[in-house]
Amino acid sequence: MTAQELHKKAFVLDSHCDTPSRIWEGYPYTERNTTNHIDFDKLVEGGVDAAFFAIYTSNALEPDAATRKALQLIAATYDAVYMHPGKVAIARTVQEARELKERGMVAIFLGMENGLPIQKDLSLLRLFYRMGVRYLTLTHSRNNDICDSCTGKTPTWHGVSPFGVEVIKELNRLGMMVDVSHISDESFYDCLKYSKAPIVATHSCCRALANRPRNLTDQMIKDLAAKDGIIQINFYPAFISEKYYEEFSKVSDEFEEKETVFKANTQDPKARKEFFDVRDRLFAIPRPGVKELVDHIDHAVSLVGAEHVGLGSDYDGIEIPPAGLEDVTKLPAITEELKRRGYSDSAIMGILGGNFLRLFSQVEQISHTL
Ligand SMILES: [Zn+2]
Repeated sequence: MTAQELHKKAFVLDSHCDTPSRIWEGYPYTERNTTNHIDFDKLVEGGVDAAFFAIYTSNALEPDAATRKALQLIAATYDAVYMHPGKVAIARTVQEARELKERGMVAIFLGMENGLPIQKDLSLLRLFYRMGVRYLTLTHSRNNDICDSCTGKTPTWHGVSPFGVEVIKELNRLGMMVDVSHISDESFYDCLKYSKAPIVATHSCCRALANRPRNLTDQMIKDLAAKDGIIQINFYPAFISEKYYEEFSKVSDEFEEKETVFKANTQDPKARKEFFDVRDRLFAIPRPGVKELVDHIDHAVSLVGAEHVGLGSDYDGIEIPPAGLEDVTKLPAITEELKRRGYSDSAIMGILGGNFLRLFSQVEQISHTL
C-alpha cells in the first residue's frame, strides 16, 4: 500500500486540538481560512477521521467563570458543527466515530482540558459527560483542586488530591478517559495507581529528547504502556526540540508580554508594532520538522512498541507549528515518514488512530463493569 492509500484506509485521529477556543474568539471559522491550523475542510483534506476538540479553561479563572467558559466553548463547538451537516458531527462513542467514517464524515469529540469547570462537584462532571466530553485533562499550567501541575510552582498535593481520587473513580465509572498531559510526575503516578482503566497522555512528547516538564520520562512511558496506556505525541516545537526551546525561550517571555498588551489595545499602533516585531523574531527561529517529530514517535516505540503511541497535535493551541506540518492538511507527511522508516502498515494504522480507539474502547468497556 502506498502512504497515500494507507492514510486513507487508516482511522486517523488527533487527540488534542484547541480549536474551540479559536471558534469562540470569533476566528473566521465557517469558511476556509489561513488563520487556524484546523477547520472542517482542513480536517477532510488532512484525511482526519476524528479530532478531539479541547474545552480549555485557564487556571487563572475563578471556578464560576471557568464553568461558564467551558459551557460557552461547548456551545460554540456545537454551533459550528451543526452548521456543517454531512461533513462533521459530534461523536460520543468509538462506534459512532467508526460509523461516521463509513459515511465519509469527520467525528468531532469533546475533551476537557483542566478540571476547573467541574469545581468540586461530581454532578457537574457527569453533566459535562452527558454533553459529550470524553476525556478530562486533570489540570493545566497550575495546580487545582484535583492535582498538581507539572508547571505548578510548588506542590500543593504531591500528586492527586483526595477529591482528585474521587474524580478518577467517577471518570472510570462514566467511561471518560483520564488524560495525564500537563500534570506533575507525582500526579501521573497517582493516576496510574488509582485508575482502573488505561490512561492517556493526549498531547505530550518524550523528555529524553527534549527535557521539558510537559514531556514524559522513559520510565513514565514504560509504566503508562504497562497498564495499556498511550502517549500521543505533541507537535509543539518547544516540546520536540531542546535546541529550538533554547532559542525560543530567549524571546517567549517578551512575546507573551507584548501579546497581552496588544490584545488589550488592538487599536494602539505602538502595541501592534511591538507585538508583530517580536512575533516575527519568534517565527524566524528555525523549527524542527516532520523528521524531528517522528523521532519522538520512534523513541516511544523503541521503549514500548508501536501499539502505545499516537498523535495529539495541539493545533490551534500552539502558536508555532513544526516545519512541514503547518496545519492539519499536512498530516499525511507523518504517514510518509513512518513508511520511509520501515514501519509496517498495521503499526502505522495504530499510531494514526487505531491505538487510541483501542484505549477508548477499553475505557468504555471497563465503565460497564463498575
Ligand atoms: Zn495543553
